[in-house]
Amino acid sequence: MEAVTKFQKGSGNVELRNMPDPECTDEKVILEIAHCGVCGTDLHVYHDTFRNYPPVILGHEFSGTIVEVGRSVKDIKPGDIFSVLGATAVQCSSCEYCEPGEFMFCENR
Ligand SMILES: [Zn+2]
Ligand SMILES: [Zn+2]
Repeated sequence: MEAVTKFQKGSGNVELRNMPDPECTDEKVILEIAHCGVCGTDLHVYHDTFRNYPPVILGHEFSGTIVEVGRSVKDIKPGDIFSVLGATAVQCSSCEYCEPGEFMFCENR
């Protein structure tokens, strides 16, 4: 797949590259991305002012259509449309939003 990738440390060092396609294991899904946002964090990674470990694919806020579903995945099927915030590391894990997995609404983010 093509992806905007920071390929080495330092300011800049970003280009469109061919990266390996993700694998759909039993507990995962494959989503074909339709739209992707450019977050402030992406700009900090671009300028190397936020920790990053190249190669890094930029763009962690996106939406698209499910094209493949792992065998253990329930309630999601090909054709479903999702919006995704892939960066879930910043959360409290214990509020009324985090407990059911709605990290984007966490008031402690
Ligand atoms: Zn972001
Ligand atoms: Zn929370």
